[in-house]
This record gives sequence, C-alpha cells and structure tokens, in this order.
Amino acid sequence: MNGCEYDLLLKNGRVIDPASGMDQRADVAIKDGKIARVAPDIAESAAKEIDVTGLIVTPGLIDCHCHVYPTFPQAENRLYNINADAHMLQSGVTTVIDAGTCGWRDFMRFKETVIDVSEVRVLAMINIAAGGMVRMESEQEPSEFNAAVAAEIARAYGDIVVAIKTAHYWTHRPFTDEHRPWTSVDATIRAGELAGKPCMFDFYPWLPERPYRGLIERMRPGDVHTHMYAQQFPVLDENGRVSDFLMKAKERGIRFDLGHGAGSFWFRNAVPAYRQGFAPDTLSSDLYMESIHGAALNLLNIMSKYLCIGMPLEETIARTTVEPARQFGHPELGALRPGGCADVTVLKLREGDFGYADCGNARLSGKWRLECEMTLRGGKIAFNRDALGLPEWTDAPAPYWTSPGII
Ligand SMILES: [Zn+2]
Repeated sequence: MNGCEYDLLLKNGRVIDPASGMDQRADVAIKDGKIARVAPDIAESAAKEIDVTGLIVTPGLIDCHCHVYPTFPQAENRLYNINADAHMLQSGVTTVIDAGTCGWRDFMRFKETVIDVSEVRVLAMINIAAGGMVRMESEQEPSEFNAAVAAEIARAYGDIVVAIKTAHYWTHRPFTDEHRPWTSVDATIRAGELAGKPCMFDFYPWLPERPYRGLIERMRPGDVHTHMYAQQFPVLDENGRVSDFLMKAKERGIRFDLGHGAGSFWFRNAVPAYRQGFAPDTLSSDLYMESIHGAALNLLNIMSKYLCIGMPLEETIARTTVEPARQFGHPELGALRPGGCADVTVLKLREGDFGYADCGNARLSGKWRLECEMTLRGGKIAFNRDALGLPEWTDAPAPYWTSPGII
C-alpha cells in the first residue's frame, strides 16, 4: 500500500449532487472504487490529487434512453446502434439504459455480449415483442407479445431489467381480433404489472382508434412516455397552451422522458411547454447511429439545450442523475454518496455564442455549453479530456528504454 488515505482526490470543484442537495465548493475522495467522502478541504493524502478548480463535479450521468444492443433494424443490414463504451464515457455518461432494443427472446445474448462486458453500466428495458427492435416486424405482431415471459425475465434479472418497453407499433395493417389498436400497450402494461416494473411507451397516434390521450389514460403512475416533444403529439393546444390532459397526467404521476433521437425533439413543442411548466422528468438522448452526428449528438448536448432554454444547471443535472435513478429503481446510482460506486463526472460550463439544432430543422441560439472534462467509472479514470493530473511531459519520468540494461 502507498500509505495514502485515499486513491484519488478531486480538489476544489463545484460539487452539484441533487440527491443530497449539495451545490458548493468541495472535494471528492475515492477509495477502492467507492466514494469515500465529500466535504470541503479534505486534508488527508491521496495517491493522486487532481485540482478541478472552476469545474463542476457531478454524479456519473445516466442516459435513460439509448440503444446499445446491436443491431436494429436487422433487415437493412447495417449497424444502427452505438457502442456504449465508445460513445458514452466521453460525454460523462457512466450508466445507460437500453430502451427495449432487445426483446425477451434474445435477452441472454444481450446480457452476455453487451451488458456483462461493457465498462459503462448497462441496464435494460425489455421489449414486449420477442424480436425487439432487432426484428421490427416483431413489434407489429401480437403473437410475439408475451407478457408472462417478459415479466419472468424482468423478475429473474431484476437488477438489470428496469422496465418493459413497447415501440413502433405502427398499425399500418388492418385491425383484426388479435391485432387491435391497443394490443402492444395492453400487453406491456400487463407485463409491467406482473414484474412490478414501470413501462416505457414509444407511441404513434396516427389512427383515430389510437389517440395520444388514450395512451395517457391507460398509463399507470410511474410509467413513462418517451419522445414527449415529437411532432406527432398535441403537446400544445390550438391556443398554444400545454394540453390540459398532459398537465393532469403529470399530477397523476405519469412520467415524461425527452428521448431526443433523430426525429423526436422539436423546439416548437419543447420551449413553449417548458415555459408553461411542462418539463421533461428525465433528459435522455435516444442515441443510435442516426442521432450521434445529428441534433441529438450526446446527453451533454441535450443538457446544454435545456440550459439555453432556461432550465437551471442543477435541474439539468438532477434530470440526468437522481431522477432517472429513482424512476428506474436504482436509487443507489446518480448520487455522490459515501460507500456508493465512484461514478463521477467532471464538467466544464462554457459561456459564449452557441447554436443547437432540433429534429425539425430549427435552431436555438444560446449562451451555454456543457463539455465533459473527465469521467470516472468505478473510481477509475475512463476519460480525461485535458489530461488533468498528469505531469507535463518535460517533468515526466524517462521512458522505460532509457533504463540501464534495456538496450
Ligand atoms: Zn429509442
């Protein structure tokens, strides 16, 4: 042992931890991969000290809607989904929730090939359709919906499976006795009831038999509607006011997730809604290959949009830490709690003239941009944009080949 009290000490950052209400200058001490202490002026020694003066220290961010299980849709024979380690750590995200890419039939493969081997913590919603989004026709096929089996898997892997998901039930074909307007929604809720888990709904109100209001009425408190500001939803009424049934749904405990993606975030819905008090409960990227270079980009880009819309910084952090942690049954995450896993994000808040796109080819100008300086996953430095804590190269030890006897 090196005789130090801690392994790593982040000094003098502005620590924002919405779970505890902390927003002050403080140090964060880490030992054995866990948060050891959060307090001003920690005096004990650490094997490594990093000065983060002027930067913001938060719990590791949680992106509660993205797609990290390859590949959907398989039919197009191309990669649609992202690699969690490659795309998330550099934007400060230490936990992702895959939003139902994988159906109940392939869950073990997902677990073995992605969940168990990723550096990022990967949690999952399980798709009510057997083939999930990997085989999107499965999401249209009622015989592929199995609430009992989906719930059984959700219970058996209760630490990993955080919700039941339905998506892409487009109802392009005629309704029959089996293929009814609400078949996917009803099966999902049934699975959620059996598993004791919330449900997440991706929804298309394109037919009069499937109005948005009908979905909201069916949802239970704690269930989540994602893509809340997509163009297909009557977020605003004809007078530009947030639809009354949505405000009432919030009061009833229905949850709303941003789910940006390549097509689901419109400033024309989001900004007036925010100003009238209809804000997202959780900010999420819905990242897949089509959204990583588009308007979504990453979770920090979406948080930056909300800073420019007017959401306070602490709230953008709450909605990407403690809120998704509680929403999806992992209150031990999304907080800088002594004894908890040392997932920590260090951010820089830049002020300047910035622009942000939405999915409807519109722009928002604003003064704020959040950037990731450093990501710690389980106490280890997984991303370090400015090489913080490293010696200047002129002061660094000589390369190993100059040691006697090497050459
Ligand atoms: Zn999605």
